[in-house]
Order: sequence, then C-alpha cells, then structure tokens
Amino acid sequence: MLKKIFYFTLSIIFALFIYYSVFHFGINGFVESVENKTFDLRQSIISKNKTASKDIVLITIDDASYEYILDNIGEWPLPRGLYADVINYVEKQNPKMIIFDMLFIKSAKSSQEDNIKLGNAFRKFDNVYTAMNFDYQAFDLRVPQDLDEKFELNVNNLSKDVDFEENTFTNYRPIIDEIMKNTANVGSVNIARSPDGVLRQAPVFVKYNDKFYPQIAFLAGYKAITTEPETSFVIDKNGYLLYSGKKIPLDKNGNTTLNWYGSRGNYLEIPIYKIMKNIKGQNIDLGVDFKDKTVLVGMTANSLFDLKTTPTDKLYPGVEILATYINNVYDNNFISKAPTPVTVAICFIISLIIGIITLRLNHVGSMIGLTLLTYFGYTIFTVELMKYCNMWLELVPPLIFATFVFIAMLIVKYVIKTRDFEQQYKLATTDGLTGLYNHRYFQEQLANVLENSKRYETPFSLIIIDIDDFKKFNDTFGHQAGDRVLLQVAQLLKRNVRSADIVCRYGGEEMSIILPNINKESAIFTAEKLCKTISSKEFMLNDKPAKVTISLGVSTYPQDGLTTQEIIKIADDRLYKAKGNGKNQVWIE
Ligand code: GH3
Ligand code: MG
Ligand code: MG
Repeated sequence: MLKKIFYFTLSIIFALFIYYSVFHFGINGFVESVENKTFDLRQSIISKNKTASKDIVLITIDDASYEYILDNIGEWPLPRGLYADVINYVEKQNPKMIIFDMLFIKSAKSSQEDNIKLGNAFRKFDNVYTAMNFDYQAFDLRVPQDLDEKFELNVNNLSKDVDFEENTFTNYRPIIDEIMKNTANVGSVNIARSPDGVLRQAPVFVKYNDKFYPQIAFLAGYKAITTEPETSFVIDKNGYLLYSGKKIPLDKNGNTTLNWYGSRGNYLEIPIYKIMKNIKGQNIDLGVDFKDKTVLVGMTANSLFDLKTTPTDKLYPGVEILATYINNVYDNNFISKAPTPVTVAICFIISLIIGIITLRLNHVGSMIGLTLLTYFGYTIFTVELMKYCNMWLELVPPLIFATFVFIAMLIVKYVIKTRDFEQQYKLATTDGLTGLYNHRYFQEQLANVLENSKRYETPFSLIIIDIDDFKKFNDTFGHQAGDRVLLQVAQLLKRNVRSADIVCRYGGEEMSIILPNINKESAIFTAEKLCKTISSKEFMLNDKPAKVTISLGVSTYPQDGLTTQEIIKIADDRLYKAKGNGKNQVWIE
C-alpha cells in the first residue's frame, strides 16, 4: 500500500512537472480556447431544452422590414420620429418596458424635429431605455464629455480581483441631447469578446472618468425585478455583485458569463413593418399583447450587420443578446466559473481515479478504456453541473493533467516491472549465500560457452574447486563461521578472475569457474594463482586467524572432451586426484 502511494505521488510530481513546463512554453492560450469551446458545446447541449422567457418580445428590423423601409421611406436609417410613434403605439398596451438596442447618435442626417419628437416620448414614459457606447476614440476627433450624474451608479468594490481593466474607457459617443436631457434610462451596449471572437460575456458596469455606468440589459433588468431600484451596489470580496438579495458572479474585468437559451429565434419577434402599418391605420394582428412585456427594439436583418458569434450560433443578432442578458437577470442564472482551488481539487481526484485504474489493472487496453470512461463521466458531470447549478467547471486542464498522470503512471509501472523482472532473474540465477551463480545457471552457461567455442573454434576451460577438510572446519569453528568463510572464498575467487569468467557455486562447498576463450596454460596459471590466494589468506573468526585451502581440477575444450559432460567429468576426476595427492593443489592431467 505504502509503495503504491509512493508510486502515485511520484507520478503526480512527474505530471505536475510536465504540466508546468508545457504551460511555461505557452500553450496556456490554446488550453483556454479549447476550454471555451467546451463551454460552447455544453451550452449548446443544455440550451436545447431551455425555454426563453415569454415575457420578452422583440420588435425587429428584419430583412422584410428593411425592404419595406427602402420601398416606403426610401432610405435607411428610419426617421427618428417613427421610433417615437412606435413608443406611443406600444405604450398604449402598458408594456413593462421598451428597450432600444440602438444608438441615437448626434448626426447631421437626423432632423431636429424628429429628435425633439423622440426626446418627448422618452420624457413621457419613464420605462423606455436606450443605449450609449463607450470607446477609446482619439480626443482630437471628439473631446470626451462629462456624463450627467443621473446616469452613474454608486459601486462599492470590495474585491481585489475585479478591477474592470478591459471595461475602462476614455471616451464615449454622444447621443442626442433631446434624450440625454429627458431620461436617466441610458445604459452601455459595450460587450466582451473572448480572444476567439465569440461573445460569451458582457459587462455589468463599465468605467469612464472613474465612474461606473450600467450595461443597458443589467440596468433595465434590475429595474424590472425590483420594486425600489437601488443606485448603490456592492461587489463583495469574492467578486460577486450584490443587488436585491441576488448575486452576479464577475470576472476580473467586471464581465459576467451569460447562460444561453438556444439558437437564434428563441424570442417572439414582431417585424417592425407590421407596427408601422398599424401606426398608419391598418389593423394587422400582431399575435401578441404588449401588456407587462419587456419589449426590445433592434436589428436582425443580415444586411444591417449587427450580428455576433455566440456559443450557440455563428450569427446571432445583438438585440437577442440583450434579450438573453435580461433573461439571465430575470432567471438569476448567470454562469459562475469554479475557482482555481476547486479545479486543482478536481485534478487531484481524477488523477487518483486514474492512479487506481493504472495500478490495479494490467491490461493496457482496459486501462485506456476505463480512463476514457472516467473522462467521459467527468464531462457529463460538468454538463449537468452547468445545467442545474449554472457552474462552469473547467474541463480541459483536469483532463490534460490526468493524461499526464496516466502517462506517468504507465512509465512508473513499466520501470517497476522491469526492475521486478531483473530481481526475479537474479533470484533465479544466483545463490543466496555466496552471491555466485547457481548450478542451473552454470549448466546453461557451460552449454553456451561450449557452443560458441565450437562455432568459432576457440578453446575454453573449466576449473572445479572444493574446499579442503571443510567438514572439520565446521566442526572446529561452527557452521556459521563456515558459512562466512565460504562467502569470503567465493568473493576472493570472483575478484581474482576476469569479468568474463563465470564463477558458480557447484554445490555444497564446491565451486566452478567457466573461462571462455582460455586455453590450458592460461587456465592452469589462473588455478595456481587462486590456490595460492586462498591458502595465503588469513580468515578472521572471532578475532582468531583461521586458514583454509582448496583443491582444484582443470579441464580444457577441446583436448579434454567435446561435450559438457566430458569436460565436467575430467575436471571432477582431476579434483579428486588433487585431493588424493595431498590437497591444496591444482591437478591438470
Ligand atoms: P575434503 O573435501 O577435503 O575431502 O573434505 P571435506 O570435509 O570438505 O569433505 P566434503 O567435501 O565431502 O564435505 C563437505 C562438507 O562441507 C560437508 C559440510 O559440512 C560442508 N558444507 C557443505 N556446504 C556447506 C555450507 O553451505 N556451509 C557450511 N558451513 N558448510 C558446508
Ligand atoms: Mg571438501
Ligand atoms: Mg565437497
């Protein structure tokens, strides 16, 4: 168990290392854009079964209306007096509010008379809203003007993270005084685009001259849902905008992430030409009663270019984005992104699962299968979490991290397996007491060496060694002392031959040495040297010196035999001859 925890920790460290090195080399932006795409995918899945608010109705300048305008009025834009007529027409049915997704900018084209007519409509109905736009236009073209303080909101920002960096502007495009004088219902239509150009977020406030101005959808939305609209707001230290007992999660720039209600066309749309016809006295059934409705007026015609890319659509009209934003205010379902510690915790949990899978299973196919299943399960989980909790849990970083852990675990496992194999191999081929090769390995190697010698027509030699009077030694010094001497003799033998020579424990206190490519003379020389080395060595046993001697028998291929059996037998016979001749010597014939 401890070992497994160690392997796991090792893999995590390894994965962290790769993860941070990879991020260090700048795939951050790439990961973020892939993460954004998964957000879009999740939104597309979730929004399929979502119903947009039936209280929101759009009056649209669609392609048909645009054509009607060109045919009947002659040119675009519509004279502003006409919008005043639309306000008066809709207000007869007591809508909750009318919001213009348009900029009634100061322009030489618009007639003073029309401007006054529109301004009067704004004065008459305090539930009519319109847009202004902030920008960075150079001062020499347009000198920035102060905005009347009735447009400002009082914002107490307690968050260290939210600094409105990208929503701080240096200029704004003035709209006609006739409106600015007559209403306070003017909000910003600035939007926020992700680096890939997709509109996923919108600001709640923008900053201009160090003051806060509301986004138009937020302005209209919060006024619609509160009986006593406040003008004072708090952003708490966790980055949530608090108002009327509700919370809107904000990012660094004061943007909030929108929840989408499906593809284009989810809100009831009435082409403006029908209203224009009714204003002229016709009686077309619009199929809707504007009573208590939130009415948005804006352009959807493809030729008018107010189209943006959103998570659910390539081309989505600006006015529907405003409708979606207001719908988010009504449903109080802005998306909040899980904070970094949560993502880190998720990385750890998924890695733990992957760790268990890779440590428990041995079949790589099933490891990959279960890992993919884990990924899939997590993906589904994030979709459900977004659906039911409006929570954006990051998908890509945890899966990348888990993949690194998976690879690291495989590597660790492979390394361990190789090491285990080596250990097993050593156990199977060596003798525990002396560390020499065992009898089986001796037989194997002898056969190999013989085969090589036959093939290349080279000699090889074999020395068989037996410790003299070892029984007596044991009886005198004890079996344990005997063991220690046996080990030291083995080590001495090993140290005094070439590394290519194979020293084995033949059995009991008998040892053998295979000497590849060594002829008779050299083998005898080595055997003599070994005999002297052992006999001159003083073995210390309980501080008392002790001596042992060995007897050796030498045989050489090919002159002494052509098979392993013959070679062994000759060496063995000579060993006994050495014994018979007084021990502590080498016998060679
Ligand atoms: P010699 O070879 O000189 O004829 O006499 P010997 O007493 O060594 O006789 P032999 O080789 O027949 O006896 C082997 C003895 O070696 C028996 C046993 O007590 C001892 N021996 C064998 N293996 C081990 C071992 O692993 N440890 C110890 N301590 N003694 C061993
Ligand atoms: Mg012996
Ligand atoms: Mg023996």
